[in-house]
Amino acid sequence: MTAHLRQEAIRQISATDPRTKSDRASNLTSSDRLPDTFGLYVFDDAVQRDRLPTDVYIALRGVIESGVKLEESIAGEVARAMKDWAIGHGATHYTHWFQPMTGSTAEKHDSFLEPSGNGQAILKFSGSQLVQGEPDASSFPSGGLRATFEARGYTAWDPTSPAFVRKGPGGGTLTIPTAFCSWRGEALDKKTPLLRSCEAVSKASVRILNLIGETDVKRVNAQAGCEQEYFLVDREFYKLRPDLIACNRTVFGAAPYKGQEFDDHYFGNISPRVLEFMQDLEHELWLLGVPAKTRHNEVAPGQFELAPIYQGISVSVDQNMLTMEVLREVAARHGMAALMHEKPFAGLNGSGKHLNFSVATDTGRNLFDPGQTPHKNLSFILFLTAFIRGCDKHQDILRASIASAGNDHRLGANEAPPAILSLFLGSQLEGVVKALIDGTVTTPRGVETVRLGVDALPNLPKDVSDRNRTSPMAFTGNKFEFRALGSEQSAAYPATFLNLILAESLDYLSDKIERLGGFTDGNAQTVVSACLRQHSRILFSGDNYTAEWTAEAKERGLLNRPTTPEALQDWAMSSNVELFEKYGVFSRSEAESRFHVQNETYANKIKVEARACLDIADTMVLPAAVSYQLRAAEAAEKVKDLLGADAVAPQLENLAHITERISIARNASHLLREEVSQVESLDQGDAEAATIFCEQVVPVMGDLRAAIDALEITVDDDLWPLPKYREMLFVL
Ligand code: ADP
Ligand code: MG
Repeated sequence: MTAHLRQEAIRQISATDPRTKSDRASNLTSSDRLPDTFGLYVFDDAVQRDRLPTDVYIALRGVIESGVKLEESIAGEVARAMKDWAIGHGATHYTHWFQPMTGSTAEKHDSFLEPSGNGQAILKFSGSQLVQGEPDASSFPSGGLRATFEARGYTAWDPTSPAFVRKGPGGGTLTIPTAFCSWRGEALDKKTPLLRSCEAVSKASVRILNLIGETDVKRVNAQAGCEQEYFLVDREFYKLRPDLIACNRTVFGAAPYKGQEFDDHYFGNISPRVLEFMQDLEHELWLLGVPAKTRHNEVAPGQFELAPIYQGISVSVDQNMLTMEVLREVAARHGMAALMHEKPFAGLNGSGKHLNFSVATDTGRNLFDPGQTPHKNLSFILFLTAFIRGCDKHQDILRASIASAGNDHRLGANEAPPAILSLFLGSQLEGVVKALIDGTVTTPRGVETVRLGVDALPNLPKDVSDRNRTSPMAFTGNKFEFRALGSEQSAAYPATFLNLILAESLDYLSDKIERLGGFTDGNAQTVVSACLRQHSRILFSGDNYTAEWTAEAKERGLLNRPTTPEALQDWAMSSNVELFEKYGVFSRSEAESRFHVQNETYANKIKVEARACLDIADTMVLPAAVSYQLRAAEAAEKVKDLLGADAVAPQLENLAHITERISIARNASHLLREEVSQVESLDQGDAEAATIFCEQVVPVMGDLRAAIDALEITVDDDLWPLPKYREMLFVL
């Protein structure tokens, strides 16, 4: 009997529950030590200033802050300082840390050890080792960018993202954030396009600001904060769920009697065990310079959220990747598994990631901040208009950037934004947009003409009540919150596209204003007004979860792409490729490669899930159901023997019931097996495979799930091999 393993798991969990211990570890980071803890393992500005010769320090800051090209001569000095500092923190190795198109990060460690000739060794780390690495790239997805015979790929140091030391059980590793490209210089990663898009948005922003007279601005930086949702389950349960291990989600599982209907978990009291984990997690993140700020319980039982303080967008994306890694590690240390999947448990809220986005000048002004003066309002209105236009015009790539097998469970499932992109501004700002379109405002003195750059906008308070939790993209006071990202995905593509759509739209506005003869308040007004009129269909403040909205969005001509293969279809479309190329974000081949990789990843994910379904159904669950069937048959026999044929009706009914359910499940499993083998034997491209998996395999997987979940509530509890939802979600 396998079910005793579940009982054993619960015993184990009880034995290690911190609630049963009186000597719980004291806080890892007391408030007085926090400032010292923060960034201790980061080669940050302070360390650089401290350890580098002044001229090298100044040169490096130039590279980091203004994108000046890195001189080879300073790399050697930086490498030496970095090595000495890292060794001081126990590092024995270094690694170029990069973000291949897999969606996770990759690293290959090399020790600092170098033979010195006489049987001795020294610790060495040169400028060229810092600047460039050459991992064997042949096994990373390249989407056709690189045949395996030309396997060489290069990692290149990204000085804008600080290096850090990660501690392992036997020493630390100096971890250097890098970009990853092929020997022809094509980007094989997610970071390079993001860095390019940062340049694009800076250039377009500076252009329009200069156009309206803000000539002191030389650079504009995109900034982001990624809120991260996740689930925790005890590791004892996790180990008994092959689906969680292979797919990060449960492919089967009947609903628990108590789900999230009481809304008692959201912002609820954090249990001591989870709190202890969170404290450990934050301590670890702080050491690595990740400014973890907020922690709370989320809507579903067993679900939580972490939010950092925002920073430069590329560092923020790197740190979100790091956060997910640290989350998994620290959870394991606490005997738990952190699940970042978008939908680990059917019937409960899934997990997302919110990308909070803004752009700020090098003088520190947030351009999405309405501001108090007419002048600041002018730039705000231009950036707002550009963002609205960008969202409307480029719905397709924004949608594509959040497409994944996991997110398909979430988007449009009444707990997450729909697959339709719309923009929520809040009632006041919508009023402003309307006034700009009409060219008039209603004031206490009557109807007046809007004069951009002359009138101050109404004071726009950051009104927390004016929120729309159903919106995929929401203005929240001084930033846009892209709320439709999947929890498990890298934020790199959405960040890249937000930069890109803003850059393109800002240029559009600049072009238009220039064509009218240059900047005047009137010209700006004309351009803004026409642009908003054309693109205001993207604005929506109602409930995004309703069927009425789906219908209305269709009338408005907004895109609705519910599945990943549909969402990806325009990624490499020629007008998008032109856009990518114009802004230097992706070359044609880079865009096409990503289209292939995203489709391939989708198809592979579904394939693995389908195999997990089949294996678990055929070798774990159906055998348990058959044991129960035998038990029911024996019971019927016994009752008949003891009490006679008249008394046996309930047992026979029970037997018939389980027999029927087994037969339904068997059929569903056969069907799924057939579908999978058919798809696997077809010779097709990635996009076609993704579509077939989506249209033919996913629905049959759903049928099998329904049949297995029906068995779960029929079979005797002591025979059921898989930890149940009621256990995984509540025994924590
Ligand atoms: P809310 O979701 O309620 O608006 P917060 O104000 O705490 O919550 O912000 C959520 C996230 O947005 C945090 O990661 C925060 O650092 C980030 N954030 C705040 N201001 C900005 C900004 N100007 N640009 C980008 N991200 C920001
Ligand atoms: Mg938020």
